[in-house]
Amino acid sequence: MFIGMDDTDSVDGMCTTYLGAMLAEKLQRAGCIVAELRLVRLNPNVVWKTRGNAAVCLEVLDGKPEEVFAVACELVEEFAEFDCEKTNPGVVVVEEKPDPEYYYQALQRFCTIEETIQRLDAIKAQYRGYKCGRGLIGALAAVSSVLPDATYEYLAYRSKDRFGTPRTIQPESFFVSAKATAPHTWDTVDFTAETVVCVPHGKDPVLYGIRGESPEWVAASAEMLETEQPSLTKIWKTNQGTDAHLIEYAGAPEEGFSYKVFGTVASTPETERGGHVQFLFQPEIGEQKFTVFAFEPTKEFRHMVRKLLPGDIVTLCGSYQNGVLHLEKFCLHTIAAAELRTSPKCPVCGGRMTSAGRGKGYKCRNCSGRVRDAVEMPRDMREGWYEVPPGARRHLAKPVVRM
Ligand code: ATP
Repeated sequence: MFIGMDDTDSVDGMCTTYLGAMLAEKLQRAGCIVAELRLVRLNPNVVWKTRGNAAVCLEVLDGKPEEVFAVACELVEEFAEFDCEKTNPGVVVVEEKPDPEYYYQALQRFCTIEETIQRLDAIKAQYRGYKCGRGLIGALAAVSSVLPDATYEYLAYRSKDRFGTPRTIQPESFFVSAKATAPHTWDTVDFTAETVVCVPHGKDPVLYGIRGESPEWVAASAEMLETEQPSLTKIWKTNQGTDAHLIEYAGAPEEGFSYKVFGTVASTPETERGGHVQFLFQPEIGEQKFTVFAFEPTKEFRHMVRKLLPGDIVTLCGSYQNGVLHLEKFCLHTIAAAELRTSPKCPVCGGRMTSAGRGKGYKCRNCSGRVRDAVEMPRDMREGWYEVPPGARRHLAKPVVRM
């Protein structure tokens, strides 16, 4: 059977994966076999999310569905952050995996509570929605999920008496571990900014999360870390780092959808107040140009975005929100030839030259020196992928190391 849970946490505490990990422990103690712990990230653009729009699913090979359902509900009732207005837990138990179509809808589009309940009734699932029951959406999506591409996350949880206190870690050990296991693990640290990025700072129970391509690699990486003693550790199979949220662009951007879109840079990128960089983009399909943003927290990624020029042919990946594409990464396919914006030096006397007219080259004011052709600007960029730094990466975004 499959047990799905979602929407149990608030910014002040808890984490749905922690509840899932506790449920797995409880079921194992009761003699059930927990065959898989699964963590799925759903549409990153939903407004109801607390942090990363996560939902969990446990695959249990033994035990009675009614009993497992009762244990899951008890745990939710004991630990969910019911006082938070945005916390609306949902628990679902099914004996057969439902149609994955609903998972894709929750991952790439939007769902309503009403249609979720209709589906749950249609497949005769056991379910319970608390408060407005919105968590049923993620819980049904989690049990319906399929992972044609999957990664793993080793999550270590803190002991209860430490919740809300600063986390004790030896940062150096995270750098050692990241170096020793790269490229099979990623986003443990940011080597450029020299920061640890896999340790949260909030009041939630997570001590750290190591992401990588197999259970063996994430476990090997965690083995090297020096930290306070975790109370519980679990390896989750996930859709993180797979680009599963991206859909092919079909000609018109839709609010809240995430795209992989091919086309041409249509204006010179400009840095706006607040530090975000923006440019206009012409997709290959459809007439409509749209604006692309690289936000301030994407830090040095913006330097590469600023180097783009009109005519560059690129593939962009990102979410369309509030009328602009929020850039996660881009691939530069063809670098456009661009004329030098300042005049070159005279090849005869070394003096500064002036333009002889558009496309006619340059002439020297001091001597008879001439340059007949327009001088191309050297493009300080190579073809290939460019991505945001680890600290700014969305959970679902595939790191370039996996491309
Ligand atoms: P955390 O990552 O800390 O577990 P969270 O960011 O996952 O928190 P939730 O508390 O799970 O946030 O809130 C997300 C809510 O949005 C859930 O109720 C979930 O069922 C719902 N939801 C998820 N995907 C969609 C979707 N595509 N359309 C509508 N609602 C969705």
